[in-house]
Amino acid sequence: MMRHVVVVGSSLAGLRACETLRQEGFDGEITLVGAETEIPYDRPPLSKKVLAGEWDSDRIRLRKADDFAGLALNMRLGSPAVALRPDSRIVSLADGSELPFDGLVIATGAAPRRLPNQPDLDGVVELRTLANSIDLRDRIADGTARVTVIGAGFIGLEVAATARQRGCAVTVLEGAPAPLIRGLGAEMGTAVAAVHTRHDVDLRCGVGVAGVEGDGTRVTDVRLADGSLIASDVVVVGVGVAPATQWLVDSGLQLGDGIICDATLHTSAPGIYAAGDCARWPNAVFAGFDDEEMRIEHWTNAAEQGAAAARNLLAVARGEAATPYESVPFFWSDQFDSRIQFVGRARGGDEVHVFAGDTSGSFAALYGFAGRLRGVLGVNMPRLVMPFRALLASKATWPEALEKARTLAP
Ligand SMILES: Cc1cc2nc3c(=O)[nH]c(=O)nc-3n(C[C@H](O)[C@H](O)[C@H](O)COP(=O)(O)OP(=O)(O)OC[C@H]3O[C@@H](n4cnc5c(N)ncnc54)[C@H](O)[C@@H]3O)c2cc1C
Repeated sequence: MMRHVVVVGSSLAGLRACETLRQEGFDGEITLVGAETEIPYDRPPLSKKVLAGEWDSDRIRLRKADDFAGLALNMRLGSPAVALRPDSRIVSLADGSELPFDGLVIATGAAPRRLPNQPDLDGVVELRTLANSIDLRDRIADGTARVTVIGAGFIGLEVAATARQRGCAVTVLEGAPAPLIRGLGAEMGTAVAAVHTRHDVDLRCGVGVAGVEGDGTRVTDVRLADGSLIASDVVVVGVGVAPATQWLVDSGLQLGDGIICDATLHTSAPGIYAAGDCARWPNAVFAGFDDEEMRIEHWTNAAEQGAAAARNLLAVARGEAATPYESVPFFWSDQFDSRIQFVGRARGGDEVHVFAGDTSGSFAALYGFAGRLRGVLGVNMPRLVMPFRALLASKATWPEALEKARTLAP
């Protein structure tokens, strides 16, 4: 009998889990535990409209206060979970309280990685939370700050674009030979990020950062491996995120760059599911590829997985079979006037075929591996990307993808 479900992580995946439990008719108790004191909000605008000062924080709430009342949640915000005992079915919170549960969904997301020897200086910032975004917004608002972004991933480049549009002088430092290499591969990463050079962002790849320096209080410079200094008023550390699983290390749950789940998002302990940025699972859509087991850090995946984990938790409690979560990943990114969209996956070494436009501006490209379509990229080409989501789900071959591209290309 399942009477009490605990959801740990009060953001997108956690909220979607709570909503789905109610939509599926669960009328027992739901406790939503969150490390942040904020009611759940959307993160993508934190590097875009909120950072630019165009949207205030009310605009990004995932639900209005009245909608929360309708969900009848027991909200435990501001007190993170610190331990899990799967055998006793108890989650412990930082405030000392213990929450017994019948079912548990873990949706603790991810947290920014730090640089080795990162100093705690005023002006050295990261971007994951609303508080981070408001702090950075105020630092760049008058356009006079010299901003150095360490890491040319999507979030780093979005911050660079927003800061540049505020009038700031912006330098981006990337250790890899090309920007966006993890998400798009070197060739397309270079093409997509060229928009930064066109807007006078100083984008430097293949450079090592030796350290971040200050006057004891405030940041002053970033020192490169060759000894040179980049004078900086603000340093944004954008070197990726790690799954927020530290609180689970003694739980016995199987971990490994995320919470290891089966195809239904079930963890290694009975009645415990994971969803969103913290979950690693085998995605059958990519069976046979070299990266079938994946952990995804995109909005759409977190929303879909939160719902799927909740549905499977209820199904199994009713004695029914759980449904594997199979999905074609999708993400978008906005940088200057570029709307970047991607469906599927990409890896360095994939075959890349540009089938519309040209890479100096708007374009669309297919990614293939082992005779199959692996992903599709579009820059300002929305109509040419989404039709491939269904094709990827059907495990299309490379020739089928080329044929579809031929029919769609203008
Ligand atoms: C600045 C920014 C811009 C982005 N832009 C895009 C975009 O353009 N497109 C896109 O597809 N994706 C984007 N993303 C990614 C997207 O926002 C994430 O994939 C999504 O937020 C993941 O949701 P989640 O619920 O899994 O995790 P999170 O949003 O990370 O939420 C996890 C929650 O759990 C809480 N938590 C952590 N540990 C504990 C604990 N021990 N106890 C209790 N609570 C805990 C955290 O405080 C947090 O509130 C962006 C992300 C950021 C940060």
